[in-house]
Amino acid sequence: MPESPAAKILIVDDDPATVELIANLFRGQYETLFALSGEKALEIAASAIPDLILLDLMLPGMDGFAVCAQLKADPLTSAIPVLFITGRADSTTETRALELGAMDYITKPINPLVLKIRVRNQIELKQARDRLAKLATTDGLTGIANRRRFDEVLAQEHARHARTGTQLGLIMLDIDHFKAYNDTYGHVLGDDCLCAVAQVLERGLRRNTDLVARYGGEEFACVLVDGPPAQGALALAEALRKQVAALAVPHKSSPTAEYVTISLGIITACCNQTTDASLLIRQADEQLYRAKNSGRNRSCLAKDLNC
Ligand code: GH3
Ligand code: MG
Ligand code: MG
Repeated sequence: MPESPAAKILIVDDDPATVELIANLFRGQYETLFALSGEKALEIAASAIPDLILLDLMLPGMDGFAVCAQLKADPLTSAIPVLFITGRADSTTETRALELGAMDYITKPINPLVLKIRVRNQIELKQARDRLAKLATTDGLTGIANRRRFDEVLAQEHARHARTGTQLGLIMLDIDHFKAYNDTYGHVLGDDCLCAVAQVLERGLRRNTDLVARYGGEEFACVLVDGPPAQGALALAEALRKQVAALAVPHKSSPTAEYVTISLGIITACCNQTTDASLLIRQADEQLYRAKNSGRNRSCLAKDLNC
């Protein structure tokens, strides 16, 4: 298994000597970033997405409370744990910090051993949470996004595209005669075939902002964001279909071809705020069934719609 990259800690303190002292404590163990002001901390947090922020309370300009509140209000940074480090040791300050969403609170002067242990605990918790989140959104067999992730992304992207008036694309695809494949070659090879198709689809998507997910059984779905033209979505679907065919996985009981094939339904639509994403799925599904009924191993594109 590839080694996971070192966790990243952002140290926020207006005193460079304190920053250096803390950074020295974690040298060689974690990657450390630093900011000498609250404003800079927000900037670095949003671009580097650290695994933990050590946040001084008393900062010139924006104080630690304001920084923490903004971090928690932004979906991009809200999951980053914050550990306050401050000279103020009263319970009102501590309560306020915890209420704002801080995970822990440490008072100055810093006890290096205590800080090291508390940081390690927070990093371990964060890594466990990240692993759980990944498990919850990954398909156990193929390793690509699962149905839960697909539903989440489609709903988010539908709402975003409705706000901006941009077109959204969806491809629903299904392996042809897969029941016969299982009946002929057994479920173990059936599983291998699902994994091979999933890999082709994941490699075949051209932009990493697009998503491919296992929709269920032998069905997959691709979400194409930021205004794919209808003909572009159709060309992508055809490229995926040809790449799956090029795997040349033998399928002697398929009436369609001697190898495994897929059928695809495609829709590109201008989203509007009054409908939900399920209409897109229904439309792409209709095209998928048109592809099945007109001979399989083909792609069918819906007319442009407002969804
Ligand atoms: P069509 O061309 O109309 O799509 O026919 P089909 O046989 O592919 O469709 P059908 O829905 O009749 O069968 C789907 C098959 O997919 C049946 C099921 O056993 C198989 N399947 C679903 N999930 C898995 C899985 O995780 N592993 C394996 N090996 N097979 C699966
Ligand atoms: Mg099928
Ligand atoms: Mg099916």
